[in-house]
Amino acid sequence: MTNFDVSGFDLSRRALLSGAGALAATGALAKAPMIGKPAPGFHRFKLGAFEVTVISDGPLVMGPPNGDTFKGLSKEDLTQDLTRNHLPVNSVELDQNTLLVNTGSQLVLFDTGTGAGSKAFGPHSGRLLDNLKAAGINPRSIDGIILTHAHADHCFGLMTDKGARNFPNAKIYMAQAEFEFWTDEAKAGINDMMKMMVAGARQNLVPNRDRMVFVKDGEEIIPGIMAISTPGHTVGHTSYGIQSEGQKLINIGDVAHHHIVSLERPKLPFAFDTDGEQGVATRLKLWDMLVSERIPMVAYHFPFPGVGYVGKQGEAYRYFPALVRTVL
Ligand SMILES: [Zn+2]
Repeated sequence: MTNFDVSGFDLSRRALLSGAGALAATGALAKAPMIGKPAPGFHRFKLGAFEVTVISDGPLVMGPPNGDTFKGLSKEDLTQDLTRNHLPVNSVELDQNTLLVNTGSQLVLFDTGTGAGSKAFGPHSGRLLDNLKAAGINPRSIDGIILTHAHADHCFGLMTDKGARNFPNAKIYMAQAEFEFWTDEAKAGINDMMKMMVAGARQNLVPNRDRMVFVKDGEEIIPGIMAISTPGHTVGHTSYGIQSEGQKLINIGDVAHHHIVSLERPKLPFAFDTDGEQGVATRLKLWDMLVSERIPMVAYHFPFPGVGYVGKQGEAYRYFPALVRTVL
């Protein structure tokens, strides 16, 4: 029988006493230099004959837990949920998983992140272009940008700060209702958040009007990719079903935002929902469908790479991350 005791595991005091801490601080013990850069944020897998790559735009910082993040969940209860799941409690962070699909005849990217210039969501968002490069993708080779919706973290990466296109050869696919809502200048007067959202949407969407394709519910927009209307979070929010050789994946966009709260408490609207009640109904319907069909999903804001399954757990649900495999 062993009798180890992790409560006594603390090397900091030992290093201090022996002087090793002081030596390490000067770098005298460092044999190899620290790399100092994060690993490239992409993950690649096959879906039938399609090659799929999740490309991270970096984390999106929501700030300290508060009672407005999920409507009806107090700051204290949210903090408890985070603590119970070994998540940071000083700041709620969401990932941003854009999805690149090579169908063999077209290369399409779902959503574009916040754009490199915007730091409204913390210092580490806007990494999509860097990570695309790391994944071996030239933005000029992308044939289509497919938008789930027109919020800042999904479409503000279409254009550079100077008004040039980041994806110069791509058509833009989105729901017409979404385009009309977020480019409507009358909505900018509602509050400061709407002012920022509408100004950014106009800057990124209006110059692309001539290359825009409006998608309809149930339509196969390009071979192997179908639009699925999932309104609530925004008026024209759209998910996409991707299918090749019988294998399926649903890109759910922002039908859910948090891999714990949105599963364990699926009936709570999210802070930025346009119609929270409709968003809840959409989420419950989608969760039940994913549970019964056992179809995998990619969730934009779930922990990278955000690919996984939904299962039933009592009256609520549970997220099962898919295996992150290092082979194709
Ligand atoms: Zn989002």
